[in-house]
Amino acid sequence: MTHSPSNVIHLDRVRCLECGTKYVKPAAGGTMNENPGCPRCGYAGWIDAGIPPRRSAGKAS
Ligand SMILES: [Zn+2]
Repeated sequence: MTHSPSNVIHLDRVRCLECGTKYVKPAAGGTMNENPGCPRCGYAGWIDAGIPPRRSAGKAS
């Protein structure tokens, strides 16, 4: 297990499910109250930015 510097605020890169805007959200806490939502459209739904926006039929590399 790796120790991370406590001074660094952990941010998750996410993508808005509504408009597709990529933004970061604070990972600390992880509660809905701490979730700022999309800065562009305000939509609270998001997906990890590392996940392709389109669902692929079948396994593609
Ligand atoms: Zn959005």
